[in-house]
Amino acid sequence: MALSRQSVAKTLEDVAARRPVLEPVLRAFEPLLTAQAQLTEDLAESVRATGLRLPELQPEAIQEGLSLLAGMPLNGLAAPLRSSAEKLLPLLAGLEAMAPHMAALEALLLAPVKKASKKKTTATAAPDPRESLAEAVLSGNSEQETRLAEQYNLDPSVLLFAFGFVLAPVLRALVAQSLPEEGEAPWDAGSQWKQGYCPVCGSFASIGWLDKPLVDEKNAYLAGGGGKKHLHCSLCGANWKFMRRVCPSCGKDGSGVMEMLRESEAAQGERLDWCTQCKSYCPTVDLREREGNPDLDALALGMMHLDMVAARKKLRPLKPSFWNTF
Ligand SMILES: [Zn+2]
Ligand SMILES: [Zn+2]
Repeated sequence: MALSRQSVAKTLEDVAARRPVLEPVLRAFEPLLTAQAQLTEDLAESVRATGLRLPELQPEAIQEGLSLLAGMPLNGLAAPLRSSAEKLLPLLAGLEAMAPHMAALEALLLAPVKKASKKKTTATAAPDPRESLAEAVLSGNSEQETRLAEQYNLDPSVLLFAFGFVLAPVLRALVAQSLPEEGEAPWDAGSQWKQGYCPVCGSFASIGWLDKPLVDEKNAYLAGGGGKKHLHCSLCGANWKFMRRVCPSCGKDGSGVMEMLRESEAAQGERLDWCTQCKSYCPTVDLREREGNPDLDALALGMMHLDMVAARKKLRPLKPSFWNTF
């Protein structure tokens, strides 16, 4: 966790140098990814002020595959969500598919924050729509998502696409504040979490990564050989350990279930891990095969040439992303 990550710009620059054909697409999304990374820092104070924390892990809930934020009330989150939307909506407006929906998105996401949203106990106070939508997304409540979309004359897929961008930095700030500074995340202790979706927010992994060998700096010996697989969530930024031979989509386990698809040259550890049983795939990077630690969200975008190969092979992404959804 303490490994220093490259910036979005540096990661995309490296990709563009190797794959010039992708440069226009990378440039189109770079401002959004950069703003999200910056917002995660800028919103830390405002998220802390809500008093919200990730709940403690419950062993039974973990066994059942219940993610931490499912069902949790998010009172107070309206203020940081509004700040996030203020910064990101103008950037989203630059995407052709989003432009016609900006007025409706602004009506929902930039509405004034009522003081009452901090205390929902009074029966008269209507819940804040941003908090209701965040709760619906994190609980997988698609009825509630659709209801809110209809209320604002938005197509649910458009609303969820835009809201994912706005919600991400807020959740990342919340996750960062709740994790111990040193050592592994609570869900990695004893590898209790066995799902292909995120232990925090329930979103499917957007990219996987195999870690580098671990050098113990105090004793200067190799503390671990590396190569352990982790999955990364592009919504809340959480990472979790995952078995290499298991499919993160259908959960099948065994030799021959997972296959690898990679370019023959200059792959730098980049590949797709795909399931022979359910035909889903997840981009994955073996960090043992490259210098530095890329920004994983930027790298997932930078691996879109493999998304195209996968589409030709009739494979489907574990987590549909903005560059192959719109
Ligand atoms: Zn997550
Ligand atoms: Zn599968």
